[in-house]
Amino acid sequence: MIRTVLAISACKLTRLALRLLHRGGTALPGKVALRLCPDLLGRLGRDVQVLLVTGTNGKTTTARMLEQAFADAGLPCFANRSGSNLIQGITAEFAENATLTGRPKKKYAVIECDEAASKAVLGQLRPQVILVTNVFRDQLDRYGEITHTLESIYQGLSHVPEATLCLNADCSLTASLQRRLPNPVRFYGVNVPLYKDPVRELSDASHCLFCKTEYEYDLVTYGHLGSFRCPKCGYSRPLPQVAVTEVLEQTADGSRVRMLCDGAEALVHINLPAGYNIYNAVGAVAALTAMGFTLDAAVAAVGHFHCGFGRMEKFQLGSNPVRMILVKNPAGCNQVLNFLSSLDSPALFVICLNDNYADGTDVSWIYDVEFEKLLELGDRLTGVLVSGKRCWDMALRLKYAGIPKEKLQVIEDYDALIQAMARQSSPVIVMPTYTAMLDLRAKLSRVCGGKDFWE
Ligand SMILES: [Zn+2]
Repeated sequence: MIRTVLAISACKLTRLALRLLHRGGTALPGKVALRLCPDLLGRLGRDVQVLLVTGTNGKTTTARMLEQAFADAGLPCFANRSGSNLIQGITAEFAENATLTGRPKKKYAVIECDEAASKAVLGQLRPQVILVTNVFRDQLDRYGEITHTLESIYQGLSHVPEATLCLNADCSLTASLQRRLPNPVRFYGVNVPLYKDPVRELSDASHCLFCKTEYEYDLVTYGHLGSFRCPKCGYSRPLPQVAVTEVLEQTADGSRVRMLCDGAEALVHINLPAGYNIYNAVGAVAALTAMGFTLDAAVAAVGHFHCGFGRMEKFQLGSNPVRMILVKNPAGCNQVLNFLSSLDSPALFVICLNDNYADGTDVSWIYDVEFEKLLELGDRLTGVLVSGKRCWDMALRLKYAGIPKEKLQVIEDYDALIQAMARQSSPVIVMPTYTAMLDLRAKLSRVCGGKDFWE
């Protein structure tokens, strides 16, 4: 008990001190707390009903959709924000939402958990429902085994056999978890094409996880996602209980789809554009209904939630809308290009490439992205601005992609970059890597009057 009180106090004080120093989003408060009480997360999580999200892409956006449903229902709920999704950040969030003696102030939590941290986090926390979005290769482990990420998630899940798992049926890696775990499982997926003309991408999982035979596909939605089937051992896409059965409309502001959820049909408006957000929405509906929300409540939440930190955020720069979309791997980047090429209106494209640790220090992943797709925009592509620490590598990549010299411009200074964006007459789409996003977002928020990210 003394340990708990000490650890919580230390955590709260450290956090307060950092806030007074205007430094948000660090791992320090949680680190201090865990040093004093290594099982603090388990102690604090005991009386909280947790919905946890893990997987490579879509965690943050999906977590915001889930949070919206709790807010709509008036249920007291907290969540970890601003990318603090390792055990330190998650522990700090629980401490912040507990009394000094460790009693929770709120009954529910939506927790985003890094795949690599799931073993440590699930060693302590006992979520009711766990959503696994997908497994893609990150640029960080470009030369590592993709099954390493899957293994981390598996090890985490093996601590919590009672949790209901919501798994992406279209991801052969994620779906395979069902075969190895005793948990109750709910599958979700997309039964129809997401794009008229999908990018031909490098598949992160082209061969059967169990027998190494190449998969056959009835449908590829993007990357390695789709209706996969192994012709040799018979491992195939499981039938999803929650599925998108028709894409009715896709615009720059959102999508309208038809979903089937445990046999009930629903028309769903998704308050974010692009195909990968359709996946996030169907995953959110599967998780929320597993948590006990009605289908109507889940559908309402994905229809009006507000977008998270850097994942397709919208800024108003003078008369010009600026959309910022974080990219962290080739699959995510290809999805943005898919989205861009589906737009009917002209657009200026901005890429900010950094090579700090959190971005991936090896930038050669940009050669796995189909930037050639930009050429299909023709006159609708008004220009491409390139910035960030590795802007010259990016400019070279775009030159190889065939982007005309007169449309390509390198601007190293962010203030100059924002001025150039403000001078545009067409909407702007910015694709930064993680640390580039932090810098650019801070400057853009100042110009456009946004909030600091740790608020
Ligand atoms: Zn097989």
